Amino acid sequence: MSVISEHLLEVRQALPPGVELVAVSKTRTVEEILEALDTGQLDFGENRVQELLTKVDALPTALRWHQIGTLQRNKVKAIVPFVHLIHAVDSVKLLEEVEKQAAAAGRTVTVLLQVHIATEDTKHGFTPDELRTFCEREAESGEGAVAHPHVRIAGLMGMASNTKSRPLITHEFSKLNSLYEELGESCPVPWKTLSMGMSSDWKIAVDCGSTLVRVGSAIFGSRS
Ligand SMILES: *Cc1c(COP(=O)(O)O)cnc(C)c1O
Repeated sequence: MSVISEHLLEVRQALPPGVELVAVSKTRTVEEILEALDTGQLDFGENRVQELLTKVDALPTALRWHQIGTLQRNKVKAIVPFVHLIHAVDSVKLLEEVEKQAAAAGRTVTVLLQVHIATEDTKHGFTPDELRTFCEREAESGEGAVAHPHVRIAGLMGMASNTKSRPLITHEFSKLNSLYEELGESCPVPWKTLSMGMSSDWKIAVDCGSTLVRVGSAIFGSRS
C-alpha cells in the first residue's frame, strides 16, 4: 500500500462517523490524487483556481471539488459549472457574484460563509457581528423572496490561529461552533456543514463540533 493510502486510511479511521474528509490536494500531482482516489477518496480541496481547472480536466468526473481558499470575484465564473462546495465566501459581494454566475450557468451552488475567528489579520472572513447582521437580513427576506435563489448557504468555515497553543485553538473553534449553532437555526435553509480543522488541528476541531475537516499534508506529506 502506498504512503498516501496509509495516511488517508489512518485519518479516516480516526474521524468520528458523520465527519467528512476533504483531502487538500493543492500543489499535488494528478498521480498523487489518483492514489487517494484509489483508496476511495472522492472529495478534494484546492485553493488556486488555475490549478483546480487543470486538475479537473485531467481527472475523472466522479471527483467532488472543493474551493477552499480565498476566491477572487473574477474567478467565480470558471468554477461555478462544476464546483461541489465553495468554502470561503468571505463577503456579501462575493456571494452576489456566485449568485450571478450560478444563475447564468443554470445551477444552484452550495457555499459556506467564512468567519474570521483567528487573532491574525491575515485570515479573511465575516466578523461574528457582520455574520449576525447578514443572517438577520436573510431571515427577513423569508421564503419566496430569497435574495439569492441560486446559492445555498450550507454552513460556516473558519481557520484557527497558526499557533501551538491548544487552549487558543480550542477557544477559536468553540467560538465558531457557538455561532454555527446560534445562527444556523434562523437561516432559511438549515445548516449542516461546519468546515474547520486542518492537518495540525483537526482533532481539536472535531472535539469542538466540526462536521468537515480539510486535511492536506497529513495525507500527502509536507509541501515544499
Ligand atoms: C492548505 C489548506 C488546508 C490544508 O492544510 P494542511 O496543513 O496541509 O492540512 C486547509 N484549509 C485551507 C483553507 C488551506 O488553504
